[in-house]
Amino acid sequence: MQQAPKRTKIISTLGPSTSDLASIKGLIQAGVSLVRLNFSHGKAQDHIDRANLVRQAASELGVQVAILADLQGPKIRVSRFKNKKVILKKGQEFILDADLGVDEGDETQVGIDYKALPRDVKSGDLLLLDDGRLEFTVNAVEGNQIICTVDVGGELSNNKGINKQGGGLSAEALTDKDKEDLKTAVQLDADYIAISFPRTAQDMEYARSLVEAENSDAKLVAKIERAEAIEVIDDIIKASDAVMVARGDLGVEIGDAELPAAQKHIIQRARALDKAVITATQMMESMIHNSIPTRAEVFDVANAVLDGTDAVMLSAETATGEHPIGVVQAMTRICRGAERQRSTQISGHRVECFFHRVDEAIAMSAMYAANHMDIKAIVALTESGHTPLLMSRIRSGIPIYALSRNKKTLRQVCLYRGVYPLEFANANYQFDTASVEAIALLKQQGILKSGDKILMTGGDIAGTGHTNLMKILTV
Ligand code: PGA
Ligand code: MN
Repeated sequence: MQQAPKRTKIISTLGPSTSDLASIKGLIQAGVSLVRLNFSHGKAQDHIDRANLVRQAASELGVQVAILADLQGPKIRVSRFKNKKVILKKGQEFILDADLGVDEGDETQVGIDYKALPRDVKSGDLLLLDDGRLEFTVNAVEGNQIICTVDVGGELSNNKGINKQGGGLSAEALTDKDKEDLKTAVQLDADYIAISFPRTAQDMEYARSLVEAENSDAKLVAKIERAEAIEVIDDIIKASDAVMVARGDLGVEIGDAELPAAQKHIIQRARALDKAVITATQMMESMIHNSIPTRAEVFDVANAVLDGTDAVMLSAETATGEHPIGVVQAMTRICRGAERQRSTQISGHRVECFFHRVDEAIAMSAMYAANHMDIKAIVALTESGHTPLLMSRIRSGIPIYALSRNKKTLRQVCLYRGVYPLEFANANYQFDTASVEAIALLKQQGILKSGDKILMTGGDIAGTGHTNLMKILTV
């Protein structure tokens, strides 16, 4: 019998270190279920080429792999310097000038891409540059110039990001570049599209209207990386299909000391509201160069698993790092270790909740029954993937197999913790006859053997009905 795969999913960002078929196959074999195409870097064609390689790798390996297209969003950046970079000293004056030419920066001033920045800041504000490595205090705003004092200096190079502590920058959620990239994402058939820096549920609704206008059924991920987003987190979660704890920018905006509590809160709210959640940024940062993680990184990944995240994400570690496969192997090992903790398998089962939907009542009953019996596998016949999503909001150690004929669904369920997609091509979704075929498929895959008990859910109207049935069978 094969060992059930780890429950927590790994998302790996593709980049120069991982742009050929062999390394993408290596990532998948090491435990990657979703790949991220980062539209902050590279050209449209680079992403299209990588997407094609991912589809080819997945089909050659006979597995499902989802593609997450991550739009850059209105990241506020300095423009460029005459000599690429400058060294700024503590105590000196430095001007961010919206009127300065893009390549005109020097030791005293630099241009900014986002021309409205002088209107969004006032004297006394703290600006953080390059993910918080440099700090400026705003002394005065004169026309389009922001006059600052350098509190923490260091090297500042071309196109580094600017954040304002406490949030409050008014840039639109989707830039013209994002709208172009969204079309590319739809063209390469992305399964998820991530929106960067949304502030409100309306930002997500606007993004959804653009996705729908392209006739795409991609699901939407809200990257939580602004202070304001935390204040309306439930509304943003409800307007999204999944959220990402985007710890890089979020940590700069709210301060690093607030991050652990924010991560736990976002994960808890997403699960309670029946949405998926990703934990991202610097999870295995030292492995960009090193061959093993630090102990702190081991604990960080494990703690995200214990917090209940669906997925853990790798950024530069796999995009530009020296050990892209090794870092995924390490992450897989750490996830498995954390998943052996009993607490990851014990649920309160929402016993106090009232259920509003039939599929919800079935999914919750299924988890209650399965967790209280010797059930080997939960098998959900599903068209949209909604029932396995609901099931995976309940903690359990039992694998949930999502059987579907819908290819997009098979890839989208790759994000859900403890859910494994299996193509069930037979159009016969009639619950009574389909169970025979489903069991045959699971036996053939080495997942079940004679005598195993399974719990199965489905609908009684072939293909079109929502889940309204469950049964327990012995193989
Ligand atoms: P980024 O988003 O990698 O696109 O900046 C993630 C984060 O801010 O943590
Ligand atoms: Mn970010």
